[in-house]
Amino acid sequence: MQDTRKRIIILGATGSIGLNAVDVIQSHAERYRVVGLSANDKAQELAELAATLGTDNTCLSGATASPDSATFTGPEGLLRLIKSTDADIVLNAIAGRAGLESSFAALESGKHLALANKESMVCAGPLLRKCAATADKHILPVDSEHSAVFHLIQALGADKIAQVILTASGGPFRDLPAGKFPEIKLEDALKHPNWSMGKKITIDSASMANKGLEVIEAYELFGLDPRRIKVLIHRESKVHSLVRSVDGSLYAQISKPDMRVPIHNAFSYPELIPCPFGALDLAGERLSFDAPDFDRFPLLALAYRSLEKGGMYPLAYNAANEVAVDLFLKSQLSFMGISRLVEAALQHDWGKKAEALGHIIETDTQVRDITLTEWKKGF
Ligand code: NAD
Ligand code: MG
Repeated sequence: MQDTRKRIIILGATGSIGLNAVDVIQSHAERYRVVGLSANDKAQELAELAATLGTDNTCLSGATASPDSATFTGPEGLLRLIKSTDADIVLNAIAGRAGLESSFAALESGKHLALANKESMVCAGPLLRKCAATADKHILPVDSEHSAVFHLIQALGADKIAQVILTASGGPFRDLPAGKFPEIKLEDALKHPNWSMGKKITIDSASMANKGLEVIEAYELFGLDPRRIKVLIHRESKVHSLVRSVDGSLYAQISKPDMRVPIHNAFSYPELIPCPFGALDLAGERLSFDAPDFDRFPLLALAYRSLEKGGMYPLAYNAANEVAVDLFLKSQLSFMGISRLVEAALQHDWGKKAEALGHIIETDTQVRDITLTEWKKGF
């Protein structure tokens, strides 16, 4: 009998999202099968995953890869894996800007793109959307907030949406007085109250750059005026986002904080099927909502500013933030230094519009160089 299961490639399979995706696939083995896996390093773990999931089609893209450690190696090998494998969906769960080219490769080779790698959308939103339209394939958001909004918009109709409200846990410093911010240590920032995630996104959650990136991601995915995209602190992480319809009513998507829910919904789209992970009993729950504090979390304000300025400012915001987070993780920059350094990088002119992927990659490198030059001046 013909195998009609959806064929899925997981990029970044050894990471937090990647491993959650493995769970989702195993929970519906009658619907999905894995036809390709990638990781940057952790050759052993990748090989074990491949054996468990019954595929021998793998890519190890980092510098430690040896030719016999995987079917494909290096960044070029990653693109070859995506393009040469027959698949229905590519889940891009690579961390950071390193996931950019893979998003294009997935759509260009005729696969739907389940997108956890928000940085792709931030760096190249218009081009990616164009690419998806040309290929007649979907970009299916995996970020929990955007998955929520995507499904709410599908339910209500795009023309009925007045506002999108992204919820944010507020991270570990949501209650920390401004005066204590200079004392924040790396280990404090790595402790997220609600989610267990990769290091980069955990730091971004502490600084609220993650929400900044998500505001930009929402703008690129849903094409709304930035003034119609709001952020609300919701510390329980049960309401994953809301939309306001034109009559003023609010509609929310509510489930347990479990990334397997949005991954499940991206894989099953356009169907909505039973999911074993997220059902929440609201009895006894206390849900709170607060306005965000743009003064303590300047990276949120900078994200809106970069959207207002347009051109490649959002890309610059992302690239400068990646450099700053990397320095912070190496204890070469303070927590407050992250936003100051991003602000310094955004003082330069990034107003040109991106015409092609090459232009984006070139500008990304320039932003990183300039950010490091600014940092060397003293932060
Ligand atoms: P992670 O650090 O746990 O995993 C990253 C994966 O990408 C690993 O498999 C790693 O080997 C691979 N990778 C890293 N650098 C690479 C490179 N240069 N080239 C190729 N592969 C590389 O990260 P994560 O928390 O799973 O996040 C992945 C993406 O999903 C990020 O864009 C993040 O913003 C987004 N996201 C994550 C969560 C979450 O709950 N973890 C939620 C929403 C969105
Ligand atoms: Mg999110």
